[in-house]
Amino acid sequence: MKISELYKNKRKTLAFEIFPPKPETPLDTLFNSIDGFKKLSPDYISVTYGAGGSQRGRTVEIASKLKNHYGIESMCHLTCAGHSVEEIDELLAKMKEENISNILALRGDPPMDQPDFSFESGAFQYANELISHIKKNDDFCIAAAAYLEGHVDSKRLSEDRYYLKQKVDAGVDLLVTQLFFDIRLYFDFLDRCAQLNINCPVIPGIMPIFNARIKTMTARSGCSIPANLVLMIDKYQDNPEDLKKAGEEYAGHMIRELLDGGAPGIHLYTMNKLESTIEILKQAGLR
Ligand SMILES: Cc1cc2nc3c(=O)[nH]c(=O)nc-3n(C[C@H](O)[C@H](O)[C@H](O)COP(=O)(O)OP(=O)(O)OC[C@H]3O[C@@H](n4cnc5c(N)ncnc54)[C@H](O)[C@@H]3O)c2cc1C
Repeated sequence: MKISELYKNKRKTLAFEIFPPKPETPLDTLFNSIDGFKKLSPDYISVTYGAGGSQRGRTVEIASKLKNHYGIESMCHLTCAGHSVEEIDELLAKMKEENISNILALRGDPPMDQPDFSFESGAFQYANELISHIKKNDDFCIAAAAYLEGHVDSKRLSEDRYYLKQKVDAGVDLLVTQLFFDIRLYFDFLDRCAQLNINCPVIPGIMPIFNARIKTMTARSGCSIPANLVLMIDKYQDNPEDLKKAGEEYAGHMIRELLDGGAPGIHLYTMNKLESTIEILKQAGLR
């Protein structure tokens, strides 16, 4: 099923994002928790794609098992950085073969171990080109990424929004946001989208704070941390268990406020952590 259908009936959707375990780790370590995730009744689960195509087979394998074995609708992330058209088409064919209908189409980042990487080494330089290619040849539901504070590479917010509009017009059915910690950014962003005539659903991506490493993650991705959250992280920095609890509570409250404020659903970056996901949903009043 195309997940865009879910957003048409106005019910608040719940989506989880998971990632493939490291190559040396058996997939069963992930699958052991899928029954637990399923009990939380997600509308779908998205599976990330390793930068530069590492583990790309695993993304499709996991998404296929979610759909065809567990009966959970799934979405494959797909990045185009460094890939040839043939490599992309091979993956698209595999997804179709596995009955997968949903793709989160992305540009991707330069692989960490390739400092001289050039986006020109691949067939598509930006996500909008990948989206046009998929749209021209296939019938997938296509999601894309949105950055409430602008993508870290962008020199100007207006430029980033111009390219966002171009990307949506290439055939995007829904947008999923990068992590953020101030819900006002999300609602302001919806206003900007309306001004740009971007009318597809914009799903807030919620990243729980599990430990103080969130500071590095936000610095890399160009996201701000509100002052009250900085104080919270500092307060618990020597007490990881309390920081995790406070992070779960914060994420739960954000979800509640976003849904109450009219967000069409939630995309929760679970980091494959089942127990925390259960706690966050409790805090959000969804359990
Ligand atoms: C919800 C979500 C899920 C993600 N999942 C993954 C994943 O599974 N695997 C992974 O490796 N990464 C993932 N990422 C990270 C993503 O790959 C990076 O943020 C990447 O740097 C940008 O991808 P994009 O698709 O947003 O790029 P684009 O939309 O192509 O934008 C990239 C930059 O180029 C600019 N730009 C866009 N189009 C043009 C144009 N035509 N001309 C000039 N400039 C342009 C934009 O303004 C932006 O600054 C995810 C991000 C999000 C928000």
